[in-house]
Amino acid sequence: ASYKQIHNVDDKVQAFLTLDEENARAYAKQLDETIGVEKEHGLLFGLPIGVKDNIVTKGIRTTCASKILGNFDPIYDATVVQKLQAAQTVTIGKLNMDEFAMGSSNENSAFAATRNPWDLDRVPGGSSGGSAAAVAAGEVFFSLGSDTGGSIRQPAAFCGVVGLKPTYGRVSRYGLVAFASSLDQIGPITRTVEDNAYLLQAISGLDPMDSTSANAEVPDFLSSLTGDIQGLKIAVPKEYLGEGVSEEVRQSVLDALKVLEAQGATWDEVSLPHSKYALATYYLLSSSEASANLARFDGVRYGYRTDNAKNLIDMYKQTRSEGFGPEVKRRIMLGTFALSSGYYDAYYIKAQKVRTLIKEDFEKVFENYDVIVGPTTPTPAFKVGEKVNDPLTMYANDILTIPVNLAGVPAISVPGGFVNGLPVGLQIIGKHFDESTIYRVAHAFE
Ligand code: GLN
Repeated sequence: ASYKQIHNVDDKVQAFLTLDEENARAYAKQLDETIGVEKEHGLLFGLPIGVKDNIVTKGIRTTCASKILGNFDPIYDATVVQKLQAAQTVTIGKLNMDEFAMGSSNENSAFAATRNPWDLDRVPGGSSGGSAAAVAAGEVFFSLGSDTGGSIRQPAAFCGVVGLKPTYGRVSRYGLVAFASSLDQIGPITRTVEDNAYLLQAISGLDPMDSTSANAEVPDFLSSLTGDIQGLKIAVPKEYLGEGVSEEVRQSVLDALKVLEAQGATWDEVSLPHSKYALATYYLLSSSEASANLARFDGVRYGYRTDNAKNLIDMYKQTRSEGFGPEVKRRIMLGTFALSSGYYDAYYIKAQKVRTLIKEDFEKVFENYDVIVGPTTPTPAFKVGEKVNDPLTMYANDILTIPVNLAGVPAISVPGGFVNGLPVGLQIIGKHFDESTIYRVAHAFE
């Protein structure tokens, strides 16, 4: 059914970069044969899943939507992919994204621009646009995305699905092609909150292969879906309903708060005073980390190599000039500049300090509240081509998702109504390692 739907709609939606149909069908058949034979099955037995193309899959091309990895076949599976295998999902294929996860619209893919299934003239969001669109279009039951500054939550909001960025360290990054290692997290994109809890359950946990994965207990996320939010205390940051946020989106958040109030929760307005510095801090730190991480793509170790080099240095230069797209080059230049001697203290160190202040803003609010609620994005999905020539406007779209990554806390986007026929997302932010409370609230709201 999954492939049937893909063959029906994916020439329009363009969510997939690679399909693994023959192997997937063979594996599904193999799973079928265990029914009635094996006593126990995996947690997600037989369910079709799509995987973002920056998560490595052994023997299945993994491109990061970049020409530089256009012909790259990984020799190992990411930890999350191994965990999916243990849960017995069927991997349907690899999903389109902005090149190296840099972008908010999927228009930075070197191969195709995924479209929003709700309106094909609009973007699905990014960078996990393929992951969100595939779920929204019914091509897969669920998918994995990655979120460095909003890349799971923003496309989930634009496509009317559920997307969670787990606490930094909750899910192993081993086998996730690094963009900004101190911010990146893999997470689930699904149709319902319950599906989301199932998928997070399957992929969470300490991993000796990722030194930043956390030795935190993995609770039973499903048991938090009680529907009971009586007495829950919600904080609503005034910075998240202020300037730049459209009136309709603001109204949809206020409506959502009424729904939660009716179930016994209370809410107050609070302040996250350093929010206004989050965008600048994020683009400085993420680009710095990216410039170091992407140094490995040199034509020697992975993927693409130029045909017309005169010598070794020229080979590096030509390979990277031909292999990377414009946005990736912009980030590498920005990051290299910020890290260069003479500028390092003024930019990189300064941004690290501001990051701490942003994290402390969250900690202070969480002393008195269970969750923070606000919009996921300032507006619903924008038109294809609308922001593509204006990187700063494109960056501003992430203003409400980025602080969460800087603080390392978990957050979900759930469908929060419609504006002019387009879905908008409600963002629920939780304390470190408290995805359970996020799920409890999201499920009560759903
Ligand atoms: N849109 C943001 C960026 O371009 C976030 C991307 C992400 O979360 N991977 O960096």
